[in-house]
Amino acid sequence: MAQLSVGWQFFSGVLGDGTDGVLAWQESALCAQTDPEAFFPEKGGSTREAKRVCAQCDVREQCLEYALLNDERFGIWGGLSERERRGVRRRKVA
Ligand code: SF4
Repeated sequence: MAQLSVGWQFFSGVLGDGTDGVLAWQESALCAQTDPEAFFPEKGGSTREAKRVCAQCDVREQCLEYALLNDERFGIWGGLSERERRGVRRRKVA
């Protein structure tokens, strides 16, 4: 659990699920063991390192689904940037 507080969850404010604690998949989030800043690059900054971590993450699908369901606007989630997630959302609606 302590590791989660230094991962992207800390910065995005999604430490809990609103009920009784952390979402189960977040406990396996590989980004919690890395530099969280890589997941929130400055505008125009590289997303390569974050996407490299996501590609190896066991909970990538759950993470992406969570981001889509919760309309997360910032950062890399499930290996996709904000713009890429918008594209997925549009394709799901169409
Ligand atoms: S897919 Fe990426 S952002 Fe999502 S939990 Fe895994 S490493 Fe973190």
